[in-house]
Amino acid sequence: MSIYIVLLGPPGAGKGTQAQIISGALRLPHISSGDIFRENLKNQTDLGKLAKGYIDRGELVPDDVTIAMIRERLSRPDCRDGALLDGFPRTPAQAQALDEMLVDFAGKVNAVPLIDVPEAVLVERLTGRWTCRANGHVFHEKFNPPAKPGICDQDGSELYQREDDKAETVTRRIRVYLEQTSPLIEYYRRQGVLLEVDGTQSIEKVTEDLLSALPRREA
Ligand code: ADP
Ligand code: ADP
Repeated sequence: MSIYIVLLGPPGAGKGTQAQIISGALRLPHISSGDIFRENLKNQTDLGKLAKGYIDRGELVPDDVTIAMIRERLSRPDCRDGALLDGFPRTPAQAQALDEMLVDFAGKVNAVPLIDVPEAVLVERLTGRWTCRANGHVFHEKFNPPAKPGICDQDGSELYQREDDKAETVTRRIRVYLEQTSPLIEYYRRQGVLLEVDGTQSIEKVTEDLLSALPRREA
């Protein structure tokens, strides 16, 4: 049976950072809805053009478009044994659609780590975030600086500051999380799959807590 893990938490909680670290240990592909949207923006696809206005405003892209995009991604061969989802689902309708589509993929949501961090910390994390152009690796100018300023440690590509990481848009995105995404905490708690992790700890400690709590694929 496939394993699906959903990383839940506000923007800036450290979902992408942790997913990049633990996806190898879990042997599950890291599927980030934000990265897929940004790839589409870069390539100026129809999906990218549709998503752009929402992303720039810090709002959610409509559910039907987002759900179809994730269904297509999860149906690819590299997700045969499951996936580590980062940034999806973000609304109750998306969570329900995920439950339904996983029936078709012979799986279910096995675990949902909630990485929690207070709002004041989130703003500082997001406004100081630097993202890699090639593969979306993330750094922080103070908390997780790259070895060479402006260059990604992993693949040598250029680091940039996301347009939607400016203070004004960050505040909007946190509000959107509280209004539209936080109801998923109760949804997954009721399913008995929620795991709470203290996201204010160091990156290394959060990784340790995640790896000790998460289910692994059989060898
Ligand atoms: P998310 O994917 O949840 O939006 P990111 O993983 O992109 O969050 O992290 C947001 C910013 O915070 C990045 O700049 C990252 O380097 C930094 N960061 C991530 N985890 C921690 C941590 N535990 N302590 C301090 N900074 C962190
Ligand atoms: P962060 O990790 O900082 O919260 P993401 O990279 O996950 O940011 O998302 C960036 C933007 O992409 C969101 O503000 C939203 O516009 C869009 N997006 C990403 N995932 C979803 C989703 N599941 N549903 C709707 N919109 C999404």
